[in-house]
Amino acid sequence: MDWIQSWKDTLFLLLDDVPVSLRPVVASIAIDGTSSTTIIIDSMSEEPLSRPFLYNESCPDALPLVKSIAPAKHTVCSGSSTLCKLVSWWNSYDSSKESAVLLHQADWLLWLLHGKLGVSDYNNALKVGYDPEMDSYPSWLLSQPYSHLLPSVQDPGTKIGCMKENIRTQFGYPKDCLICTGTTDSIAAFLAARTTQPGKAVTSLGSTLAIKLLSTRRVEDARFGVYSHRLDDKWLVGGASNTGGAVLRQHFTDEQLEKLSEQINPLEASPLDYYPLQAVGERFPVADPKMEPRLHPRPENDVEYLHGILESIARIEAKGYKLLKDLGATPVEEVITSGGGSKNEKWIKIRERVLGLPVCKANQTEAAYGAALLAMKGACENTAPSD
Ligand code: ADP
Repeated sequence: MDWIQSWKDTLFLLLDDVPVSLRPVVASIAIDGTSSTTIIIDSMSEEPLSRPFLYNESCPDALPLVKSIAPAKHTVCSGSSTLCKLVSWWNSYDSSKESAVLLHQADWLLWLLHGKLGVSDYNNALKVGYDPEMDSYPSWLLSQPYSHLLPSVQDPGTKIGCMKENIRTQFGYPKDCLICTGTTDSIAAFLAARTTQPGKAVTSLGSTLAIKLLSTRRVEDARFGVYSHRLDDKWLVGGASNTGGAVLRQHFTDEQLEKLSEQINPLEASPLDYYPLQAVGERFPVADPKMEPRLHPRPENDVEYLHGILESIARIEAKGYKLLKDLGATPVEEVITSGGGSKNEKWIKIRERVLGLPVCKANQTEAAYGAALLAMKGACENTAPSD
C-alpha cells in the first residue's frame, strides 16, 4: 500500500469536494492526523526517506535506547511512540541524514498546502518528546544526534502561511486562505464537542471505551496508559479501557441492541456483575494484562443479560473517572458522550445513575469539525488588531 500517495490523493480529492461556490470564502484550513504516524522527508529533494511509520507500528529495537535517555515512565517509553520510530530509523538508515526532517501525518499534509517544511503542533509533538509545559523540547532530547530532525512546534490553530499559489489557483481558493497548525485525531474529536470548562468530559463509546477529561492539573501514569495533552492553559487527561461496544457486537446485532434496550428499566440497578472484554487483558482503569473477560452467569432473559452488560460497562466508566480524580485530575462534573453507544438513550440513563452525573449526547463528534474550529481560531487571531 502506498500510504503517502493515498493520503496526498485524498487531500486533493477533499479540496476538490468543496463546492466551487464556497471555495472563494474559505478563510483558513487546519488538519488533524493520526497521532504518532511518522514521515521522514529529505528537505532538499522533498521526498520521503522511508515508508511512513504507522501509528500502531512498534519499534521495540529502539526502546532500550529511548528508555536510557528519557525520564522513567515518559510517554515516549513505548515501542509505538514517535521517538522510538525516529530512533529506529536513525539507527537503520545509512544514507545522508543531515537534511532529514520528521513530520507527523497532519504536519505533512499541511506542508503540502503551505510549503514550509518542519512545522508541527504541541499535541502531535507530545509523543516525540516535546514538553508542552515548558513549551520546548527537553535538553535530554536536544542533545541527541538526531535532534535536527525535530520539527518546530506551534500552538494548535496557529497560522503557518497562505495556501501555495499553484494549489489555490488550481482549485479556486482565495489568495489569503490561511493554513494553520492542526492536532491529533482524538484531540480534534474532543474539540468538536466544544467543552472548555475544567470538569467537563467526553466519553467515547465505540468499539472500546475512551474517556477524556478537561483538567486544570496535568496527570500522567504510564501503568494505566494515562497521559495529558495540553489544551491552551488546561490539560486533557485521557484513558482507554478495552471494554466497549465490540463486546456487545459479539452477542447482539445492532437491531437486537435497539429492541432489547427498549425493554430495560434504567432506573433499576442490575445485580449482574460482569467485566465485558473482547479478549484477555485490561489497561485502564485496572492495569492487568491477564484479566479474563467476565460475562457469566448469563440469565435466560436477554433483556436482563444486556442490562447487566450495559450496567457493568457504566461501572467501568465510573471507575475510570474515579481513577483520574485519584491521580489528581479535576473531578468530573458532566459527561458528554459520543460513538455508536451514545445513541442508546436507556444506556445514557443507566450511566447517569451509575456515574451520579448528567450525561448528554454531543452535538458534533466528527474530528473534522474540531479541526475546522482550530482553523477558525487561526483565522480570528490573524484578523485581530495587533498591539
Ligand atoms: P468504532 O468507530 O470505535 O468502531 P462506533 O463509534 O462506530 O465504533 O460504534 C460502534 C459500536 O456501537 C459497536 O461496537 C456497537 O456494539 C455499538 N452500538 C451500536 N448500536 C448500539 C446501541 N443501540 N446500543 C449500544 N451500543 C450500540
